[in-house]
Amino acid sequence: MIKKIEHLGIAVANIDESLRVFETLLGTQCYKIEEVESEGVKTAFLQVGESKIELLEATNPDSPIAKYLEKRGQGIHHIAFEVDNIQTEIERLLNEGFVLIHESPKNGADNKLIAFLHPKSTESILIELCQEKN
Ligand code: ZN
Repeated sequence: MIKKIEHLGIAVANIDESLRVFETLLGTQCYKIEEVESEGVKTAFLQVGESKIELLEATNPDSPIAKYLEKRGQGIHHIAFEVDNIQTEIERLLNEGFVLIHESPKNGADNKLIAFLHPKSTESILIELCQEKN
């Protein structure tokens, strides 16, 4: 079951510069900076009420974020939905005909199991499913 929007992912060229903007905008400090080496990204999280903002900076030129920035520039990169059971949701969405980039859950930032859906089956929006790791 999909529970809520957990965070919005925003692709940025420079995480330190963008953090200053978002920390001032939201009146709160970043609570975690974390690198996900397998994805070639550095992430920074800010909490706003129940929701979070995830800033994403590329750590190498082959990173999906580097490619995104090259093509589209900075902006909203993905919407992440929290699910209670990521394996069950992956199976449900595959059965519904959605195309998944990850057909099995993988480790993401912020203590989460994650899987991305391909934007070609989701109206051009990159969607992330995430489940808190116990
Ligand atoms: Zn995310």
